[in-house]
Amino acid sequence: MTSIAFVGLGNMGAPMAANLVKAGHEVTGFDLSETARSAAGEAGIPIAASLSDALQGAEAVITMLPKGEHVIGAWEDILSAVPPSTLLVDCSTIDVDSARKAHGMAEARQCPSLDAPVSGGVGGASAGTLTFMAGGSAEAFSRAEPLLSVMGKKAVHCGEAGAGQAAKICNNMILGISMIAVGEAFALGEKLGLSHQALFDVASTSSGQCWSITSYCPVPGPVPASPANNDYKPGFATALMLKDLSLAQDAAQLAQATTPLGAHARDLYARFAEDGNGARDFSAIIEALRAGAIG
Ligand code: NAD
Repeated sequence: MTSIAFVGLGNMGAPMAANLVKAGHEVTGFDLSETARSAAGEAGIPIAASLSDALQGAEAVITMLPKGEHVIGAWEDILSAVPPSTLLVDCSTIDVDSARKAHGMAEARQCPSLDAPVSGGVGGASAGTLTFMAGGSAEAFSRAEPLLSVMGKKAVHCGEAGAGQAAKICNNMILGISMIAVGEAFALGEKLGLSHQALFDVASTSSGQCWSITSYCPVPGPVPASPANNDYKPGFATALMLKDLSLAQDAAQLAQATTPLGAHARDLYARFAEDGNGARDFSAIIEALRAGAIG
């Protein structure tokens, strides 16, 4: 049993914290939003009225916040309140630079730290089946692993500080690009008189095979659980895909990496989001491709 302060009880944080409570850990949650605090309280998570109350006696602190600026701000407050050797784990998806800065702040306070963003969405957070991709020292990873294994089914130690965020944005750049490729192929197939099922049966077992076809097919029918069968309710919202592709472009620019398809995919999702689709699942981009609204 570990005493854990969980900071950020939104769509992802609340179910992750609830799974730690169910596993018998002593969790105290905190969120700036009163609405998030009371919803998490109703879900069985003990709630503190302030960050400093949540941190009392915590051996580990987990943050699940929107962006790098929120993580840096919260970690400044956390690190000024906790004793050395407290474990800090950030599960948010943020830019690599901020993740490295947060690690540096923790190191200065002699606190082991991990960037550990997740894949799996709200469904995976609720079911405890997230995948964690972690960056930080071996010591931080081995201390965090028992907690990550409660919230997820797999945790990969990707390397040193920032490596988890790097893996996350590279993975999601592949996903964002591949969904556009699959959408284009299905839209072209329609114009060529090919049925969705025929293209799925071929491409899901041929060299075009990828997750965007086999698990998340953007047309209704072939994969019954995909958002296309549910009016493109997320799933994974276009706004979040756009955020991750923008993080990838920021990182590419800083690292002087050439990512022309990543850049074009970011622009296409940006236009799709501007047209009022930010809250819809990102696979709905097939509709804009079909209509020639972007390209
Ligand atoms: P969310 O907006 O639902 O929750 C974030 C919470 O953080 C909010 O309740 C907000 O009030 C709180 N917050 C902000 N600053 C705070 C602070 N300083 N102290 C305490 N609380 C603070 O977001 P979410 O969907 O839970 O996503 C969280 C992170 O996980 C994001 O980085 C997101 O990109 C990533 N992520 C989300 C999904 C998803 O499907 N929602 C999937 C994978 C990764």
